[in-house]
Amino acid sequence: MDLPRIFTIRESGHRIHNPLTAAKLASLGESLRLAPGTRVLDLASGSGEMLCTWARDLGFTGTGVDISSVFTEQARARAVALGVADRVAFLHADAAGHVAEEPVDLAACVGATWIGDGIAGTVELLERSLRPGGLMLIGEPYWRRLPPDERTAQDCHATSVADFRELPDLIERFQELGYDVVEMTLSDQDSWDRYAAAQWLSMRRWLDAHPDDETAPRVRQELTEEPARYARATREHLGWGVFALMKR
Ligand code: SAH
Repeated sequence: MDLPRIFTIRESGHRIHNPLTAAKLASLGESLRLAPGTRVLDLASGSGEMLCTWARDLGFTGTGVDISSVFTEQARARAVALGVADRVAFLHADAAGHVAEEPVDLAACVGATWIGDGIAGTVELLERSLRPGGLMLIGEPYWRRLPPDERTAQDCHATSVADFRELPDLIERFQELGYDVVEMTLSDQDSWDRYAAAQWLSMRRWLDAHPDDETAPRVRQELTEEPARYARATREHLGWGVFALMKR
């Protein structure tokens, strides 16, 4: 059980594995207006930047669960580096079906709604860990501009235009599930560049260090094709946001 290696090659230089900058992540945390001591569950916690910085800056405590052993190790090291190792813990595990032992104040899945087989299932999964009146955070893509054709959607790494909604429809989807959307923090093209373009330098450095690796041809092809594809497709068409939800 682990994340395929290609992801850790591409994202070896990332602390945040999503189109959010450190500033946006900090502003998202502040926007929630939650008290120190807030207990958090973060499903698909990646390298733990959200939990670690919010523990340091906002006094939260919590647990992250992620299927990547590499990212989980990075998350634990980050907690030590930021001096919050007594307030956060990171489990290397499949987050699908993971429920907290004690209900939490904030239950999050930021950019991995496949763990619940989509938005509805992820909301249901997080709800099982959330105390009544708690806040839920979901990170999800949407179409900033609708792709003109299926090819463009696929170049955004979607399987089809139907994979995602436009922003107003995504908000209404959360509402249909019985939630108020009470806050949101959206990516922009600059924060997308931090997520996407940072992968190119990581791939190039990895290639220089591992020219004979069996994965090298794939990484070479991605490094050649992805920058222009990203500029044409994802950067223009794909939005991404983190939505804070409260049950009605
Ligand atoms: N929320 C983090 C990571 C988002 S990237 C951040 O914003 O930085 C998506 C993450 O989902 C990766 O860390 C990947 O390892 C993790 N992941 C994918 N499938 C998973 C699963 N079934 N259970 C737990 N984590 C999973």
